[in-house]
Amino acid sequence: MLGIRRLNFVDAQCGGTRSVCVMKTATFRIVPLPTKVAEEARRAAESGAADHAVIKVDSATGFPCRHCLRWAQPGERVILFPYASIPPGHPYSETGPIFVHVEKCERYNVTGEYPADFRNGRAFRTYDANYNMIDAEVVNENDPEAMIEKLFQNPKTEFVDARSVTHGCFTFRILRA
Ligand SMILES: [Zn+2]
Repeated sequence: MLGIRRLNFVDAQCGGTRSVCVMKTATFRIVPLPTKVAEEARRAAESGAADHAVIKVDSATGFPCRHCLRWAQPGERVILFPYASIPPGHPYSETGPIFVHVEKCERYNVTGEYPADFRNGRAFRTYDANYNMIDAEVVNENDPEAMIEKLFQNPKTEFVDARSVTHGCFTFRILRA
């Protein structure tokens, strides 16, 4: 049974008589925006950088924070700024707008679980080790974990980026566990 890995949760499989628990870990790892990048954005916004806009949130599902991986809530403030999710120097290089909370927030740390706020409205883009996009799928809201497993079945898949299916904006990265 150790060879069978479950996607979405860390499952505890407990033996009967000896109460031995074998932890089965997720097959993927969610990678939120690094805290360093969020803090740099906060500093840039505070110093009035022209490409860092502070916005007061007015919708419960319009402003995803890439650091805590939650929807910012009405009344909270977010920074809108450009982020190079695919670094310069490659055909698929890409810089696009993302949000982070203005106030300090806790970086998403349940990295073996798919973020609950983003089961809807995401597309997955698959990249190889040279940052070439090799596949793309619209997420099935009921089972993003199964789609991640399928995309990682391709041995060339280095990482998968979750993006907004409507606006195209980078949301988070997914690596093999
Ligand atoms: Zn946040």
